[in-house]
Amino acid sequence: MKWKGRRQSDNVEDRRGMSGGGKAIAGGGIIGIVILLLNVFGGENAQMITPILEQMNQGQSAPTEQRALTAKEKEEQEFVKTILADNEDVWTKIFAENNLTYQKPKIILFEGSVQTACGGATSASGPFYCPGDQKVYMDLKFFKELKTKFGAQGGDFATAYVIAHEIGHHVQTLLGTSAKMRKMQEGKSKAEANKLSVALELQADFYAGLWTNYNQKMNHVLEIGDIDEALSAAHAVGDDAIQSKMQGHIVPESFTHGTSEQRKYWFLKGYNSGDIKQGNTFDEIR
Ligand SMILES: [Zn+2]
Repeated sequence: MKWKGRRQSDNVEDRRGMSGGGKAIAGGGIIGIVILLLNVFGGENAQMITPILEQMNQGQSAPTEQRALTAKEKEEQEFVKTILADNEDVWTKIFAENNLTYQKPKIILFEGSVQTACGGATSASGPFYCPGDQKVYMDLKFFKELKTKFGAQGGDFATAYVIAHEIGHHVQTLLGTSAKMRKMQEGKSKAEANKLSVALELQADFYAGLWTNYNQKMNHVLEIGDIDEALSAAHAVGDDAIQSKMQGHIVPESFTHGTSEQRKYWFLKGYNSGDIKQGNTFDEIR
């Protein structure tokens, strides 16, 4: 992806190199796996895990600077700032096309663990969006795991796709879709509630594809292989792919994010159509 030399957003807060952001969780491995299953590209599910983590994070102090960022970390920061600026420009345009005003979210880069309005979380959560403070939280080590643990091919556009997916959850919050979906979940069986969660997640993938379409028209950023990088990442974080890796078998009624095929389908639908009206995953689960 071509990303250098464009506007960078002021809405990225880089907390890497800070200490006191939260205590490491002793024996967090098993929680990590539970969180991972619930929570890759966490969406609103981050809330489900917070009571435990909140207890564990008690007594933490305010972050203080501990070390300077490395050259690689600085470059990562510039990349994230550029992708966020691209998201701001695209969504400002799409909202304006629909006579709405876009409100910009923030991205918090952290390492280890972090406190949010949705409670505490660790790197094991994977990137997630907290509607309570309208911030995306990411430990960039996730992208290494996406390759080593989940078998995605990696690349800068895989990261761009994940950021755009999380911003998609912000869009759903602004449009009221997330609140509507939570209301629809009330009183439903676990399996029915999970289906609604899948629809919300697939729509965030659709929005990531839609963003890619607009960003290409506005900034001409795509290089050969970029779409494949996004599709490979979307495939790797499908519920079926993760479950067969982590537990050796799949339980479809427990899916919360959609299969690999669904995730790729909806990303591509957003990318190919460039039309926000095509993204009604709630009526049209494939
Ligand atoms: Zn999500």
